[in-house]
This record gives sequence, structure tokens and C-alpha cells, in this order.
Amino acid sequence: MLVTVSGGLDSAVLLHYLLNKCPMDHIHAVFFSYGQKAVNREFHHVLKVTEGLPVTLHRVDCGDIFGNSDSGLLAKGKSLNSGSASEQMREHGYINAVLPGRNGVLISAAIAVALHLGQGILAIGTHHTITMPGGFSDCSQEFINAKRAEAQAQGVDLITPFHYMNKKEIVKMALEDYKNDLRISDTWSCYSGYTEPCHTCSACTERENILKELGYEKN
Ligand SMILES: [Zn+2]
Repeated sequence: MLVTVSGGLDSAVLLHYLLNKCPMDHIHAVFFSYGQKAVNREFHHVLKVTEGLPVTLHRVDCGDIFGNSDSGLLAKGKSLNSGSASEQMREHGYINAVLPGRNGVLISAAIAVALHLGQGILAIGTHHTITMPGGFSDCSQEFINAKRAEAQAQGVDLITPFHYMNKKEIVKMALEDYKNDLRISDTWSCYSGYTEPCHTCSACTERENILKELGYEKN
């Protein structure tokens, strides 16, 4: 099995979920670098999250494929807007941390990595989110079904165990089911690329709001 990892909470919980639910003594994980501002922080946290686990980690550089984008997610892009994703949708009609085409490219790349590693199952941590235009349309059911068909045509099963869960439910799993296995502070959500979380980007805002709602004090 191959799982995509980003250093974030969702993929960290997914990794523990898979290791717990599936009878296997080893799993492959792939991290993608695609020009994102936070690439170094994300990879640092991937190393923290996978430390001590039976994981073979692969780092893949997708180069300058998004070189023409001005998405706030990218090092060459605009500044990130502040506020949660839903606040940004209300205020601007779009989320500028969205990188159009990202999941399409990265899931296809992950299918290729799975094929060349001889792995028949690819797991990704997509979850319920804002999928309207301007949001994360590449997390929609329609989109994931298309990628599932693409994977299946090549002999790979694409599984998305968290697809119907929202972010809060995933964080709750981390705090309850995997509290002994996963330290929240070992994960990284901020898109900004600073060495400390910016506390204003949509990823920070969402993470901090949910952790506060669930009574988690440290971040
Ligand atoms: Zn941030």
C-alpha cells in the first residue's frame, strides 16, 4: 500500500488509521514537492510523523509544473489571504490557497509511484470540504470518482477512507483514537512557509478553531 503524506493532520491520522485497520507490517508513503511555500516545514513534519513507524518514505519533486500559477500556496505566488476558507469564500468568492489542478496532478503522480513500487492500493486523505468553484473542487465526489477510475484502469485501487468526514471529525480521531500514537505538535498545517505558524492563513485558522473547539490547548 502507498499513502500520500503532507506533514498535515489529515494524512498523519490517515497513516495511523491504515496501520491500525489494515493487517500489514509495512507501508510506503510519498511526499510531493510542487513549489509550495511551506515545503521545508511540511517535509520536516513528515519526518517527525513517520519516525519510528514501519514506513518507507519517498519524496517526489513535481518541479515547475505550476510555474504559471499565482496561487498563494506557492513560493512564487501571491501573499496568502487571511481567514478561514469559508470566510474567504464569503469575502472574496475564492480561497487563494487553492492551487487549481493540484490534486489531479498529484493523484496521477501517486498512481504512477504506486505502479512502480508494485503497490496495488493508493490511500489519500481527502475529506469533506468546500468543493464549489473557487474552493477545493478537486476534492469533490465527482472528481475523486474520476481519479478512482483512472487508478483502476491501471490496476490500482484508490481508497479515500475520510472522504465523508469533515476536518473536525478527523482531528477528533487524532485526539481520541490515536492520542498515544500521534502528537498534534508533530504535524504542520500552515501554508505560509515561515518557521512558526502564521496564525492567519486558512489552514492555521481552521486548525486552531477546531483544536480550540475540541478543548486542545497546545498547538
Ligand atoms: Zn498559517
